[in-house]
Amino acid sequence: MTEKKRIVVAPGDGVGPEIMDATLRILEASGAPLDCEEVALGQSVFEKGISSGIEPRAWDLMRERGVLLKSPITTPQGKGFKSVNVTIRKTLNLFANVRPCKSYAPSVASSHPGMNLVIIRENEEDLYAGIEHRQTPEVHQVLKLVTRPGCEKIVRYAFEYARAYGRKKVSCMTKDNIMKLTDGLFHEVFDEVAKEYPEIKADHYIIDIGAARLAASPEIFDVIVSLNLYGDILSDIAAQIAGSIGLASSANVGEKMAMFEAVHGSAPDIAGRDVANPSGLLIAATQMLVHLGLADHAAAVKNAWLRTMESGIHTPDVFREELSTRKVGTKAFADAVIENLGKEPEILQPVSYDANSEIKVYTTPLSVAKTLVGVDVFVCWDEAERDPDLLAEKLRAASTEALELRLVTNRGVKVWPEGAKETFCSDHWRCRFRSSEDDLSYGEVVKLLGQLHEAGLDVIKTENLCNFDGKPGFSMGQGE
Ligand code: NAD
Repeated sequence: MTEKKRIVVAPGDGVGPEIMDATLRILEASGAPLDCEEVALGQSVFEKGISSGIEPRAWDLMRERGVLLKSPITTPQGKGFKSVNVTIRKTLNLFANVRPCKSYAPSVASSHPGMNLVIIRENEEDLYAGIEHRQTPEVHQVLKLVTRPGCEKIVRYAFEYARAYGRKKVSCMTKDNIMKLTDGLFHEVFDEVAKEYPEIKADHYIIDIGAARLAASPEIFDVIVSLNLYGDILSDIAAQIAGSIGLASSANVGEKMAMFEAVHGSAPDIAGRDVANPSGLLIAATQMLVHLGLADHAAAVKNAWLRTMESGIHTPDVFREELSTRKVGTKAFADAVIENLGKEPEILQPVSYDANSEIKVYTTPLSVAKTLVGVDVFVCWDEAERDPDLLAEKLRAASTEALELRLVTNRGVKVWPEGAKETFCSDHWRCRFRSSEDDLSYGEVVKLLGQLHEAGLDVIKTENLCNFDGKPGFSMGQGE
């Protein structure tokens, strides 16, 4: 007898328990050897006063079993409650979010019948690090963090995924014409890694034109890889134009663990009425079966589902008089899929998966020489009608021998030397001090900060200016 694969299931909130019940019934009928342990996540846990929404034993079970099939969860309104999804992804290092977006035309209405793409989104970094500060009365800041290992893992995952699933092209989307260091790193790593996969085509789009192309002609894309925020937006656009959000599934994958779920939320407006479409969670479950090495069971379930969809047995969200034959509820839809197990679709394309499609990622160690060459000092200053020349005078009077004021910018625009008088100035100034030395001691920075403080300047933060292997690791100001 095949050894059972041990997984954790979370029925979630709203329509969650209904679609989970339907999904588990189909999996069981398919004969997939699964041993499921249920955990509570979401509403019932929040109500016990646990602000993470995750019961403590769930962590142990998820770590021990490594695979979670999760229904949607209601995030309570108001401060103090965290998103269960974000907490699980970050805590368990689920760095890749994988969202297949496929049109099931002619069985489901779609304006893009040829669409069949997968979006692979970086899941942990970028603007989602959650590091935000209010720095001055006028200015709030968020830190966008992009790491080389993070880029390498997600980009390599995208190419490995393409190879494992027989896909032909990987498209990268960034805004590196503006964010030359952060998005530039992602693009650079993409170009490096692409060379390791000569059989897969690789191209790059600036995110704005890429998103426009995705919305207008999704059929030109195969696999798309992007940073966290862009990937988040792209995957919702793609799920929507594919047909119905109720059909979209998502996998969150890490090196040791993975979580599979529907893209939609807990749909409280239709909860408990036996009308929810269980397809998003069911398709996520087929991704899970492939991940567990149960490729044949995954194909059997997906083919039975395709057969059901093409026969016109539809839940209300996808039901159309001209395409559908029977409007059914959640339970009856699951029964129809179970009846179709063992059959293949005749109109839609049947699927098969490779049992050996295990995806492995690795990162290469870095060895770089880092030297300090200056400092950007950010100050809050709201005097003398915010005249940059007067601020520069104060800064220069307080500067040290080792560090010379070279540039002052406001919201990234140069205002000294030779600023334009039309430039709007907020109360937040970036003051760049450079050293004539190649390897400055940090003690000199501390000395400068002491003198600026003595001169009554309100320093709100600093960023060191470093060279890495002799190349500047900071964006250059105009005219520098
Ligand atoms: P939603 O996806 O729950 O609902 C949007 C609309 O789509 C509703 O009209 C709903 O009835 C419909 N819908 C959703 N799933 C459906 C299905 N399976 N079958 C048929 N129709 C379906 O989005 P929302 O209303 O913005 O969010 C509700 C709650 O879900 C919120 O608390 C939100 O935070 C949470 N949420 C959770 C997740 C998750 O756990 N992964 C994702 C998104 C939203």
